[in-house]
Amino acid sequence: MNRPVLGIPQNTIEILQKYNFSFQKKFGQNFLIDTHVLDKIIRAADINKEDMVLEIGPGIGTMTQFLAEAAGKVVAVEIDKNLIPILEDTLGSYENVSVINEDVLKLDIRGLVAEENGGKPVKVVANLPYYITTPIIMGLFEEHVPLTSITVMVQKEVADRMQTGPGNKDYGALSLAVQYYAKPYIVANVPPNCFMPRPKVGSAVIRLTCHAHPPVEVEDERLMFDIIRASFNQRRKTLANGLNNSDKITFPKDVILEAVEQLGKGDSVRGESLTLEEFARLSNSLARRR
Ligand code: SAM
Repeated sequence: MNRPVLGIPQNTIEILQKYNFSFQKKFGQNFLIDTHVLDKIIRAADINKEDMVLEIGPGIGTMTQFLAEAAGKVVAVEIDKNLIPILEDTLGSYENVSVINEDVLKLDIRGLVAEENGGKPVKVVANLPYYITTPIIMGLFEEHVPLTSITVMVQKEVADRMQTGPGNKDYGALSLAVQYYAKPYIVANVPPNCFMPRPKVGSAVIRLTCHAHPPVEVEDERLMFDIIRASFNQRRKTLANGLNNSDKITFPKDVILEAVEQLGKGDSVRGESLTLEEFARLSNSLARRR
């Protein structure tokens, strides 16, 4: 790199002072200041010159510099208009980077990928704003954005929830949703001192390798996710009672009970002990009784 590397704390401080930038808590701004962590993210994302990378929240462009060196093309979406002149300065000399000043949650990302990459799958790489981690990731999956992988910094606790399975306290709707679309792998835990300012929570880099086809066959995805949400919304209840109490699940009680019994785990089974495959079976058996 022939520009000042922003992952070095002194260079970040200089840029922030040059532009008199003040951090906005509401945008989850914690900038990376550790080149080892940046190297690890880039390696885990497995980027080459054929790839288009979508970066969410480039900040002052710290990770974008690394991405631009590795990828064919980088499109970075940043909500904070105060960062745009800074990004023009720090990234101006990279011809393969474009910055979009938008709220990523309002952007038509599928349309963007169609336009910028001919609809071919892209790699998402980001140090995410933690306040919207779940809507960003679920939005990418549910909108069926063509993706190879998502390699992101998230809150450590959220990374654990994405990766875990039945029998663990962190297991829940997020674990199942993520694992329906991708294979999660926690790459590294990252302490608060790798960021400026330091976040109050621990962080982790997680790589989600997207499935070409979901690992289970589901007749009605919406019904399966309604069932999953209903069973974890009432964790202390049995699965049958949890489903019966939900507004979203409108099957009669005896139909629910029969479908639960068909799982062969007893009628007092709780949702938290079901695998994705079992949720798919339950959902398919209910879908057929409509
Ligand atoms: N990538 C930079 C880095 O690693 O140093 C900054 C990461 S910081 C944790 C999150 C970034 O996401 C901030 O630059 C913030 O302004 C931006 N951001 C927050 N909400 C956003 C949204 N809804 N759409 C796009 N960017 C957003």
